[in-house]
Amino acid sequence: MHEHPSSEPVSAEEPASLAPGLYIVATPIGNLGDMTARAVRVLASASLIACEDTRVTGRLLNHFAITTRMQPYHDHNAASVRPGLIARAAVEPVALVSDAGTPLISDPGYKLVADARDAGVTVVAVPGACAAIAALSIAGLPTDRFLFAGFLPAKDKAKRDAIAELANVPATLVFYESGPRLAATLLALHDGLGDRPAGVGRELTKRYEEMVTGPLSELAARWADAPPRGEIVVLVGPPLPAAAATADDLDSALHAALATMKVKDAARTVAEALGVSKTEAYARALVLKNGE
Ligand code: SAM
Repeated sequence: MHEHPSSEPVSAEEPASLAPGLYIVATPIGNLGDMTARAVRVLASASLIACEDTRVTGRLLNHFAITTRMQPYHDHNAASVRPGLIARAAVEPVALVSDAGTPLISDPGYKLVADARDAGVTVVAVPGACAAIAALSIAGLPTDRFLFAGFLPAKDKAKRDAIAELANVPATLVFYESGPRLAATLLALHDGLGDRPAGVGRELTKRYEEMVTGPLSELAARWADAPPRGEIVVLVGPPLPAAAATADDLDSALHAALATMKVKDAARTVAEALGVSKTEAYARALVLKNGE
């Protein structure tokens, strides 16, 4: 196989005929202008397109004058259809799309990809739009670490349990949500995570696109009585740093520690507990020990 040096882009052209394999093709999340040129070429050259809903994908294919045959692949028929798709992808190019965005991201395809790989079938990414990434790219929340949590459970208790599991994750959290459930979810996030900075991205890439940012309490209040329409991504910033210890906090912790420990041990224990520097805790412990 021809290797490309990693610093060089490969040709923008797909070969005239696609190699056999399973092509995971992202499609727009609302704005048809986000369809990539490569996605069009791959879908047009594939021998078959597996899709969630042939009506939804049919409209997309029509728009781009693509005539490739479609095969429904969704939760209800996946187990029976999967082996045939994999056998076919071993000898022909087969594409997988979802209704919108990147397949497998809160959409079908995980088992298909896993089984295709197990069967030695080449799996090729044809990346493009993804609502989670689009929201992260415009919210102004930390993006160095994020955790995609998909849809929270609908039932209140299960939702709150799922949020509690995420409370200590040191990363921006990303959720998918629907308009009618937004207010209850923001409230549960506020209760479980505190008043963290957050963002609600709605109808991204579409005519009424918006990204509203603010503390969770404000966002929860904004939609408390008027559920918004459309598709939604909720982002929640990482845990807030604990409030800095005051001089009084340091003194009372040191007093207590000095009652049972030597100066050095008291300073180390308190420094770790309050998140202050050991040098500072040691200097203050000496002062207190010597009766100021
Ligand atoms: N695979 C898709 C992706 O790559 O983003 C997600 C599919 S998931 C079934 C659909 C959910 O994605 C919606 O309920 C919403 O939470 C989110 N979503 C999709 N399109 C969106 C958009 N244009 N604006 C905001 N959220 C969107």
